[in-house]
Amino acid sequence: KARKRFGQNFLHDQGVIERIVRAINPKPDDALVEIGPGLGALTEEMLAVNGRLQVVELDRDLIPVLRTKFFNYPEFRIHEADALKFDFGQLVEDGRRIRIIGNLPYNISTPLIFHLLAHSGVVEDMHFMLQKEVVQRLAAVPGDNNYGRLGIMAQYFCKVQPLFEVGPGAFKPAPKVDSAIVRMVPHETLPHPAKDFKLLQSVVRTAFSARRKTLRKGLAGMVTVEQLNRVGIDDGLRPENLGLADYVAIADLLADVPAETGSMLIQPGTDEVSND
Ligand code: SAM
Repeated sequence: KARKRFGQNFLHDQGVIERIVRAINPKPDDALVEIGPGLGALTEEMLAVNGRLQVVELDRDLIPVLRTKFFNYPEFRIHEADALKFDFGQLVEDGRRIRIIGNLPYNISTPLIFHLLAHSGVVEDMHFMLQKEVVQRLAAVPGDNNYGRLGIMAQYFCKVQPLFEVGPGAFKPAPKVDSAIVRMVPHETLPHPAKDFKLLQSVVRTAFSARRKTLRKGLAGMVTVEQLNRVGIDDGLRPENLGLADYVAIADLLADVPAETGSMLIQPGTDEVSND
């Protein structure tokens, strides 16, 4: 029986399963890693192509089911673990980067993606089934409604490519939301490397925690109007108007200059129009 707390919605539509595996296009030599194999719907198809597959599954009741089902694949390995805390670097063998796939538990998909982005260096590509809205957020560009922290951070590390949508009927039990498949391919070299990634994270988080404020106000206390203008950014813009390169430029300012204080520091609370 599917467990809600583990976000279990098992794929049972064979046409959809095959379409996903075709999109992943596994090769016999790939170092495949599946997160949340569940009852093995995708696992089975992947193993048929490539007998070497490692899975990370949290629900201990599923482990014997998987062992029994795939006992004839000696190179099938199960890690009973929480993917959110799992060190994916340990799965690299012979320096070969891993290909991660998963019909992810939707209740933890955003933190899980952030966790995986931190492992981008050992990843060849990732294919995920996600809530459709999360795929839209991952692929969003400046000006899109759902453009924000998730998309910026994902695109810092990866090329994000939405592939196709999957309706609730493909799962048992059927989820209440629409789903979609996304491909994420880590950049060979980062197009916009930040001097200090932690600073980039905090600039983006701060900007989008005040989504409707101008940068002048939303980033007050972090950068000055003068600093923003120095890197060619209009302080009257809103967070949704800036691209990744702009956020990196702001973060790099902070990496160069120890916090500037004094007369240039923007004072919050003067021209606010939003009601949030
Ligand atoms: N791949 C299967 C399929 O497509 O039918 C199952 C997908 S189901 C949406 C999500 C799976 O992730 C479940 O098997 C669930 O037990 C597992 N899971 C949930 N939380 C997890 C976690 N933190 N770490 C690893 N696996 C987890």
